[in-house]
Amino acid sequence: MSKPVVAIVGRPNVGKSTLFNRIAGRRLAIVDKVAGVTRDRLYTEAEWENRRFLLVDTGGLDFKKDFLQQEISQQAVLAVNEADVILFVVDGRAGLHPLDLDVAGILRRTGKPVILVVNKVDIYQPGLGAEFFALGFGEPVLVSAEHALNLGELLDKTVASLPAAGEEEDPGAVKVAIIGRPNVGKSSVLNAVLGEERVIVSPVPGTTRDAVDTPFQFQGENYILIDTAGIRRKARSGDALEYYSILRALRAVERSDVTLVVFDAGDFLTEQDKKVAGIPHEMGRATVLLINKWDLVENKFQTAREYEERLYTEMAFLRYAPFLFISARTGQRVGKILPEVRRVVKEYNRRVPTGRLNQVLREAVDNYHPPSRKGKQLKIYYATQVKTAPPTIHLWVNNPELVHFSYRRFLENTFRERFGFTGTPLRITFRRREAAKEDQ
Ligand code: GDP
Ligand code: GDP
Repeated sequence: MSKPVVAIVGRPNVGKSTLFNRIAGRRLAIVDKVAGVTRDRLYTEAEWENRRFLLVDTGGLDFKKDFLQQEISQQAVLAVNEADVILFVVDGRAGLHPLDLDVAGILRRTGKPVILVVNKVDIYQPGLGAEFFALGFGEPVLVSAEHALNLGELLDKTVASLPAAGEEEDPGAVKVAIIGRPNVGKSSVLNAVLGEERVIVSPVPGTTRDAVDTPFQFQGENYILIDTAGIRRKARSGDALEYYSILRALRAVERSDVTLVVFDAGDFLTEQDKKVAGIPHEMGRATVLLINKWDLVENKFQTAREYEERLYTEMAFLRYAPFLFISARTGQRVGKILPEVRRVVKEYNRRVPTGRLNQVLREAVDNYHPPSRKGKQLKIYYATQVKTAPPTIHLWVNNPELVHFSYRRFLENTFRERFGFTGTPLRITFRRREAAKEDQ
């Protein structure tokens, strides 16, 4: 199931980030806000009128402030290549700007649905926004991102422009995405995996508009490799390339069950690596980390230890993810990748029987009582696993506000210790029980 992508595009300072945050911040629009990842949000999963989509903020990127015209066009081009619907934002207070016309020119050539958004209309007046008809996208939607005015109409128009929900692609197959910065070796890993003796690649490769998919069998099970590296386009600036690779990764991860995150051992961990690695975690997909080009690294034992420590301290949110030191070039440990994928898929789909879950919960609570806050005692009544892929557990309590972050972490660690859940995010939600009187 692939969620469509809606990109917010426009010249700097028109209010793209403000609009993004407004939509992301709407209670209705937020789906599964996951704590623990510290980075600027580049995208958010949004929902409106039962349609889900990914909202991407092109302004959230670290593009240089003194924009060259060319860079803007490039940013716009990359964004629209990946998007299904474009929100083209202009500044209603500043009026029509020459750069708006440049962006419009690019957008028009793509043939993608474009919704023209005139922002900063804090006070509505008839006739406002008329000058923007010149951009050629018809009647604009007038909004104030800052004051959250008219966003409903904008979202209505947005979901109306989304492509029809597609069909589920081969639901029986495990979908595996390979993501990572450019040049870390994604294509090489892909080829190495498919070149393995026991891997039977289907003679008829499937394709989607997003990426090239390769169906194959391994130990009697069906898989689909989603190859984000297979399609290459040239991007000139480093920022644009980074942005482009993240968007591409987003779409692939969204379709996947398991994501292989590839790093280049020679570079250790870059900021960009960490950003990319956070994507499957946030989206609730299983993860296996691959530290590639291990053949280039000297003094391997020591380096492996250092690497491991660094992975765990700098990406604490991914402690559950297994990792392998591999070389796509020499084939070192490449044979371990699919068995690892198999293992984490099981965990991703693991369902713990309710009795067992509650037994472990009771033991945990007995060993370490929930601390009280402001004189109030948190009471945890019982747990239910409401979902798999990823495993999602509801804990029914007297008052969710009494839950401290550290206690949540303690419970998550306990569940992981007792049940495994290796490689998969684990979602724990505290719910208020329709409680008996003494709990109120
Ligand atoms: P971006 O560069 O396109 O992402 O623009 P930002 O979201 O950073 O906004 C640029 C400036 O416009 C900021 O100072 C915002 O506070 C302001 N701004 C954004 N939306 C509105 C709005 O609806 N009304 C007004 N008056 N100002 C806004
Ligand atoms: P992608 O952009 O992430 O798909 O990266 P590629 O698979 O195209 O690889 C980028 C470069 O790294 C190419 O020159 C590869 O030959 C090289 N490379 C990939 N894997 C390895 C490896 O395990 N060891 C070494 N030494 N080079 C590698």
